[in-house]
Amino acid sequence: MVYNVTLIPGDGVGPEVSEAAQKTLEATGVKINWDVAYAGAKAQEMYGSTLPPGTIESIKRNKVALKGPVTTPVGSGFRSVNVALRMELDLYACLRPCKTYPGVPTRYQNLDIIVIRENTEDLYAGIEFQRGSPETARLIRLVEETQARILHPDSGISLKVISETGTRKITKFAFNYAREHDRKKVSVIHKANIMKYSDGLFLSVAKEVAKEYPEIEFEDVMIDTLCMRLVRWPEQFDILVLPNLYGDIISELCAGLVGGLGMAPGANIGDTMAIFEATHGSAPKYAGKNKVNPFSLILSGAMMLRHLGEEDAASKIERAIAKVILEGKTVTYDLKPYRDDPTAATTSQVTEAVIEKIKESYYES
Ligand code: NAD
Repeated sequence: MVYNVTLIPGDGVGPEVSEAAQKTLEATGVKINWDVAYAGAKAQEMYGSTLPPGTIESIKRNKVALKGPVTTPVGSGFRSVNVALRMELDLYACLRPCKTYPGVPTRYQNLDIIVIRENTEDLYAGIEFQRGSPETARLIRLVEETQARILHPDSGISLKVISETGTRKITKFAFNYAREHDRKKVSVIHKANIMKYSDGLFLSVAKEVAKEYPEIEFEDVMIDTLCMRLVRWPEQFDILVLPNLYGDIISELCAGLVGGLGMAPGANIGDTMAIFEATHGSAPKYAGKNKVNPFSLILSGAMMLRHLGEEDAASKIERAIAKVILEGKTVTYDLKPYRDDPTAATTSQVTEAVIEKIKESYYES
């Protein structure tokens, strides 16, 4: 069987880590026909658009994509490519597993937290009103009439939109994930005491959904309390489900708990399509330096293989990475105890070391 997969190399360090992931996935023996497409700054250069229609069509056709990080050019008029992709393809669930691998220098051991972030609503929906525009003035008037509140006329406004439909989808996704992966607890994160009609709705729908899964423990935690508990007792958590903005921030915090952005894979999942990508961005200062950790995207690739039903190949990659980390010889700078360790390996050396371990596993099995 040959899988057709859209490959978006991305910008900055994207092409380096994408190549690493591509080579590693191929080393498992799974046959993939890569349909290369572009997004971000590179696509802007090539096609005059950060998200060309051909890229969207490729993902719609193949249903699965592996994506390197892309740079969103700074300046007005450029919408985040990632947000646009998630909205356009209705990839409503962002799944970010945060797991400690023995040998990674971290403050905590034995963590295995799944962060599930709603991907299409909340303050990220892109409904924004620019300071000084006539639409903003109308909205300010409406707020003043309906809320008995005076706003500064020079305000800019971003809307936080949370729907029952969106919340039901993401919380069901979280509980189904728990059921399918034998997870014990789902924590729903909110600030419902302050934002009664957005976070409050998120919480009340989550509570309803939880009743359909009586075998799974359910708790609700306020976002500020979560931050404190994650730093003190991260082992208390199993699956977190959060609205978009909190999910963005907390998934990066959880990446920090397990060794940093180099160790944080991810997936954006909808009902019919999925894009697998690292949590990190394009790290422009390291572009072309063959220096960054490719594990986030390689592990995202392993998630993709599992999504395609290639459980064996996915496990081979994860075991190979675990071995390379445990040996501690061939790892990038971020996994060394000291930042400027001269023995840090390059992106390509690490990739070769993982491929070597995958090949060795053929002789073992
Ligand atoms: P970033 O994640 O690119 O990098 C921040 C820092 O984290 C880096 O300087 C580096 O020290 C470290 N880091 C990141 N990836 C690493 C890796 N694989 N190995 C080792 N260290 C790593 O965040 P940023 O600098 O805020 O963003 C740069 C660009 O990336 C921006 O244009 C932003 O919009 C974009 N971005 C894209 C995505 C995506 O495509 N999914 C996600 C986040 C940010």
